[in-house]
Amino acid sequence: MTDIKQPENLLSQLELLLGKDCVLSGDALRERASSYWDSSPMQGIALLKPHNTEQLSAAMKLCHQFGQTVVTHGGLTGCVEGTTVNNQDVIISLEKMNSIEEIDAVGSTVIVEAGVTLQYLQEAVSEQGLYFPLDLGARGSCTIGGNVATNAGGINVIRYGMMRDQVLGLEVVLADGTIMSSMNRMLKNNAGYDLKQLFIGTEGTLGIVTRVSLKLQQQTRSRNTCLVAVDDFASVTKLLSRLQGDLGAALNAYEVMWGDYFHAVTEPGWHRAPMGRDYAFYVLLEAAGADAEGDGPRFIAAMESAMEAGLVVDAIIPKSESERRALWDIREDFDAIVKPQPTFLYDVSLPIKYMEDYVAAVKQGLDKLWPQSKCYIMGHMGDGNLHLFITPNSAGEDLHGQSDEQVYKPLEKYAGSISAEHGIGTEKKSWLLKNRSIEELDLMKVLKRALDPLNILNRGKIFDV
Ligand SMILES: Cc1cc2nc3c(=O)[nH]c(=O)nc-3n(C[C@H](O)[C@H](O)[C@H](O)COP(=O)(O)OP(=O)(O)OC[C@H]3O[C@@H](n4cnc5c(N)ncnc54)[C@H](O)[C@@H]3O)c2cc1C
Repeated sequence: MTDIKQPENLLSQLELLLGKDCVLSGDALRERASSYWDSSPMQGIALLKPHNTEQLSAAMKLCHQFGQTVVTHGGLTGCVEGTTVNNQDVIISLEKMNSIEEIDAVGSTVIVEAGVTLQYLQEAVSEQGLYFPLDLGARGSCTIGGNVATNAGGINVIRYGMMRDQVLGLEVVLADGTIMSSMNRMLKNNAGYDLKQLFIGTEGTLGIVTRVSLKLQQQTRSRNTCLVAVDDFASVTKLLSRLQGDLGAALNAYEVMWGDYFHAVTEPGWHRAPMGRDYAFYVLLEAAGADAEGDGPRFIAAMESAMEAGLVVDAIIPKSESERRALWDIREDFDAIVKPQPTFLYDVSLPIKYMEDYVAAVKQGLDKLWPQSKCYIMGHMGDGNLHLFITPNSAGEDLHGQSDEQVYKPLEKYAGSISAEHGIGTEKKSWLLKNRSIEELDLMKVLKRALDPLNILNRGKIFDV
């Protein structure tokens, strides 16, 4: 008698369902890299590439019958080891579900499959005079499904909010294969629970996002960018408030780089420095508006007045798109920083007024623990969000754990968050309880058990049940 619960039986049934070329295993699977951050061969029993929601639903019904754990993969750019796979897992990749189904230019909405990359979507809607405001450095690889699952943030949050604020509706395949379609396109819909919220930012632990209905914006008619150098942190915060007053809602990016971050990414062989490399802080800021003629002079006037007020010590305004891109590359391309290994990346948020003290406490702790260490900082400061890159430059046991202590312990005093936008994955699991109450965690587990009683979806991600 055959035991139908054997993984090989599951695999052959999945191959029948999806076709052999859409079920990768063995060498075909191992030749893929584990993620953007980890080039080691991908693990897992098999990787499935369903063509549509119905195929994925049927595959999940089988996995559910077999009690088979699955890990969902988007563009693999996530920063918290949320896509980590072990040798007992099946991977669901959304890479073949990558079409833009409908752009509604009248209602300013778009319907996409979850495997569409962010940049592809941005470009497609831009051809119709529309704008999708979520934007981040991994735009070329990250997927809309991954952006939903992580509730991605990025560089335009001060004006447009996070991914959650762009999502109108979702279609999801649940752990047992049920298709839950909640593809709302309206801005207003209070008919019962807003179920999409269960799947935004829950890192694939409650369902697999297959299609998404998104809100679009009209394209703006002007865009003005400026890189400024600032002497002290108090001026960085004053400049932010001042520009929010002078430019109003037009200000869409306010990205801060601490001086040593800027210095490191503009070392010879990396990016060209467009101004002196030894200022204390650099801010890359951008505003976009509806007045093609008036916005430029208004922007320059705001910058000049900030300079006259002594808040800015140097400034450069790009004269072309390629000059603008070169400035953004300094902010977004941190290869120079992560090259020495190990380097640990953090993503904290806290009230802006405490940031200077917090950073001083972290640096002090690190200097004491590892005098050779480096701590580079930049972030979406307008959103109260900092990224820290810590290179211990030291030997020893559990460097990552020790580094975590240096970053998260001082955060407790300010009731900050250990994850502003990257999520928890497996990397930050042990710190979740220190950051959220037991009651909050218990309720998360109630939801997990209700939606995925066999615990097969992204098992062990965010928390254990
Ligand atoms: C250079 C660089 C810059 C970045 N900048 C930012 C930034 O500014 N802001 C920011 O928020 N993040 C940033 N990130 C992190 C990352 O790009 C985002 O988290 C992104 O949303 C992940 O999308 P992905 O498709 O790569 O997802 P993946 O990495 O493939 O997956 C991430 C998580 O989502 C789950 N998942 C993926 N697809 C689905 C789906 N369809 N259904 C259910 N679950 C799913 C996975 O299981 C995993 O838990 C950056 C990363 C890099 C490499």
